[in-house]
Amino acid sequence: MRNPLQYFFNATVITDAGEIRDGAVTAREGRIAEVGARGAAPEGAETIDAGGGVLAPGFIDLHIHGGGGSDFMDATREDVEQVFRFHASHGTTALCPSTCAASLDEILAAMGEIDAYRSRGARFGRALGTHIEGPYLNMSKKGCHLPEWVRDPQESEWRRLLEAGPVSAMTLAPELAGARPLVEALRRNGSNVSAGHSEALYDEVEESVEWGVNHVTHLFCAMSSAMNNRYRMQPFLPRGGGLLEAALLDERLTSEVISDGKHLSREMLLVAFRMMGCDRLAIITDAMRGAGMPDGEYAFGPRHGLIAVVKNGEARVPDGTALASSVFGMNQMVRVFYELVGCPLWQAVRMGSLTPARILGVAGQLGSLAKGKQADILLLDGELDVRAAYVAGERVA
Ligand SMILES: [Zn+2]
Repeated sequence: MRNPLQYFFNATVITDAGEIRDGAVTAREGRIAEVGARGAAPEGAETIDAGGGVLAPGFIDLHIHGGGGSDFMDATREDVEQVFRFHASHGTTALCPSTCAASLDEILAAMGEIDAYRSRGARFGRALGTHIEGPYLNMSKKGCHLPEWVRDPQESEWRRLLEAGPVSAMTLAPELAGARPLVEALRRNGSNVSAGHSEALYDEVEESVEWGVNHVTHLFCAMSSAMNNRYRMQPFLPRGGGLLEAALLDERLTSEVISDGKHLSREMLLVAFRMMGCDRLAIITDAMRGAGMPDGEYAFGPRHGLIAVVKNGEARVPDGTALASSVFGMNQMVRVFYELVGCPLWQAVRMGSLTPARILGVAGQLGSLAKGKQADILLLDGELDVRAAYVAGERVA
């Protein structure tokens, strides 16, 4: 039995509102009991020396498909555990397993294995609700999802997805026929609805926000914008916005960025950060199975899915014209964001922890080092490499 009282010290502590130099965190029975300046360790506590590094809340990934050679769509116990294990080593202590466009049976099989992992006690990190990405996407913005599985919403089908387990969010293109009843059903189900892989014009997005769309999938990627949607508009009308502009402008929407420095340049991250701030914008990995693996060919989604070539820290579709998901862990995404945008470290960390927790409605329990919350704690070094990760006070990496 581990000591139920833990004292983490000798670190810069990232809090809800800033940083505490030479701070400490006390955890009792898997919950945070105290956060503040370093003092004397409570009597009988296990003392954990953070070595002058950083104590941060565990990262929460809203959008992640795989890593360490496995993908949630593999739908086996070993593969599901492997994805969690790999991402725990990069500081992710809770995540929304993400499915991709596939047959109904394949998505249900993945959700079944994710549920089984959850019921075994989530040994390598917390499984939050599944993020169902597709199959209801716009064919012209399908990205690395296989075209044969991209389709319009069918109620008989999506009913079964909603019944298959907790759904944190669904990514869908709101302009598709039949989107509205799906959006409304998702919100009644307590799920977020994320517009993405979409050609929606600005007004169509705004209408869908009225139905319940409240998030936008991987900002700037696979979405309509003023720069590319003109062909859908009447000639000679002023150039109008798309999903991108709606995400930036509409404060009812949150969004997420893949900040690996491969999908988005510094100036694009800055545009997103300046317009949306660290409370509306989350950092995600959108990682695929090639994350943490040697250069080579890896399928996105199921093993018979689209093959991507992993090289130089990125995954590309075979003809080299597009990126197929990412190969970074959360600590690497947060580090790149911090370095490129130049914001305070606590704000970059917040975008990978408290902001996603809020988006998911779990910020009362997760997302920051605050009294009463779960002791999901990271020990990071000055480069944000992970030395140790704890979930409810149990070491997972
Ligand atoms: Zn994705």
